[in-house]
Amino acid sequence: MSFKNQYLQGVYETVCKRNANEPEFLQAVREVLESFEPVLEKKPELAKTGVIDRIVEPERFIQFRVSWVDDKGNVQVNRGYRVQFNSAIGPYKGGLRFHPSVNASVIKFLGFEQCFKNSLTSLPMGGGKGGSDFDPKGKSDAEVMRFCQSFMTELAKHIGPDTDVPAGDIGVGAREIGYLFGQYKRLQNEFTGVLTGKGLSYGGSLARKEATGYGLLYFTKEMLQCMKNIDIAGKTIVISGSGNVAIYATQKATEMGGKVVALSDSNGYVYDKNGINLDVVKQIKEVERGRISEYAKRVPGAEYHEGCRGIWSVKCDIALPCATQNEINGEEAQTLVNNGVIAVAEGANMPSTPEAIEVFLNNGIMFGPAKAANAGGVATSGLEMSQNSMRYSWTFEEVDEKLKGIMINIFHSAYNASKEFGQEGNLVMGANVAGFMKIADAMTWQGIAY
Ligand code: NDP
Repeated sequence: MSFKNQYLQGVYETVCKRNANEPEFLQAVREVLESFEPVLEKKPELAKTGVIDRIVEPERFIQFRVSWVDDKGNVQVNRGYRVQFNSAIGPYKGGLRFHPSVNASVIKFLGFEQCFKNSLTSLPMGGGKGGSDFDPKGKSDAEVMRFCQSFMTELAKHIGPDTDVPAGDIGVGAREIGYLFGQYKRLQNEFTGVLTGKGLSYGGSLARKEATGYGLLYFTKEMLQCMKNIDIAGKTIVISGSGNVAIYATQKATEMGGKVVALSDSNGYVYDKNGINLDVVKQIKEVERGRISEYAKRVPGAEYHEGCRGIWSVKCDIALPCATQNEINGEEAQTLVNNGVIAVAEGANMPSTPEAIEVFLNNGIMFGPAKAANAGGVATSGLEMSQNSMRYSWTFEEVDEKLKGIMINIFHSAYNASKEFGQEGNLVMGANVAGFMKIADAMTWQGIAY
C-alpha cells in the first residue's frame, strides 16, 4: 500500500511497524489516512503540526486481568481492555465489547474510529473503547454478574464522568451495564453518569436502546433524499444481525414504509418475503436470547438458511449491515451490486472490507460509512450524559427529535466535506475529514505535549 503524499506514507509506515500484529487497527488507520490525501494537498501545514502522527497513537492503552469464579466453583481468567484514544474534544467515550474475538487490535480499531464518529456528532466527546474476550453466551446471570464486578473493579480506577464514560456494544446490553454500574457505585460511593446505556430507573435515557438503529435510518433517509431524491417507502431492505442495532433499524425502516426481508445471526439468516415480523424477533432475541432460526419455525412462509454470509445474496434495494466487522467482502459487495442495490449504510462498525467499499464507490452506490451512519448510539449516549449532569430527563420524543437532527447534520457535514475536497458523494472520505477537522483544531490549540 502506498500513499501519494510522502508524509502520509511515513505516518502509515510507522503505524505498521508499531502495530505489526494488529490487522483490524491497521485497516482502520489506512482507510482514514487515505481520506486525508486531498486534505493535505489543500492544507500542507497539517504535516507541520504533527497532528496526524499524534492522532494515530492512543493517549493510553490499558490491559488487565479479569479473574472470576464460575457456577461450578472453577476459577476463570479473561483479559480486559480499555483504550483511551483521544480526549481533545471531550472525555473519552465509547462502548465495551464482550466477545471471544476481542483483542488489542479490535479494541484499537474501534477506539480509533470512535474519535471521528464522536466528533461528527458535534457533541463534546473524545474517543475510547474497551471490552474483554469474555463470552456472555451460555453464561448464567450470576456468572455474568461476577465477571462484570471483577471487570469493573479494575476499570473503575481509570474512568469517571469527566474522564472516560463507557457504554455497551456487542455482548454488553442492559444487564451487563447494570452490573457494571452497580459495582462502580459500590467502589466509588458516588452516583454519577459514569456509564451510558443505563436502565431507565437509574439514570438511563429514553430512546438510547433504539438510537443506533433509528439513527441509521434517519441518516439513510437523508442520504437517499439528498443525493438521489429517492424515498425509503416501498424499498426492499436486507439487515444483517438481529441484535440491538438490527432490531431497531428494522423497526424504523418498517415505520418509514420499507420492507425488511432478511435478518441474521452468526449461525444463519432468515428470509421472509412478506416482511419481517419484528414482534417475533424481539420475543426470540430480547426475551428468550434464542437463535434466529427459531423465526422460520414460528412464521409461516419464512425460510432459514444456515451460514450468515448468504444474506448478501438476497435481492434488495438497500443493504444495512448491522452485525459485525468485515461481514461483507468484495465478492459479496459485487453480488449486492449485481442484484441492483442502490444504497448501503453501515449500522455495525467496519462491516465492509476495503474491497467491498471500493466496489460500492466504483459502482456509484450511495454508501454511508459506519462512523457517520451509526453515530446515533453514541450521540444519544452524549444526550444521556447531558441529562445526568442536569439531573433531569427528557421525554422519548425530545431525545428522538434531537437524535434525528444530529443524524441529518452528520450526513450534511460528511457530504459537504466530500464536496469541499473534490470527491462529491464519497461519504467515506467526507466523514473522515469532517470528523478529523474538529479534533485537529482542538489538538493544535492545546499544544503538543498534552
Ligand atoms: P448485539 O450483541 O446486540 O448483536 C450483534 C448481532 O450480530 C447478533 O445478532 C449476533 O449474532 C450477530 N452477529 C455476530 N457476528 C455475526 C456474523 N459474523 N454474521 C452475522 N451476524 C453476526 O450487538 P449490537 O447490535 O449492539 O452491535 C452490532 C454492531 O453495531 C457492532 O459492530 C457494534 O460495534 C455496532 N454498534 C453498536 C452500537 C450500539 O448502540 N449498540 C452503536 C454503534 C455501533 P449472535 O447472537 O449469533 O452472536
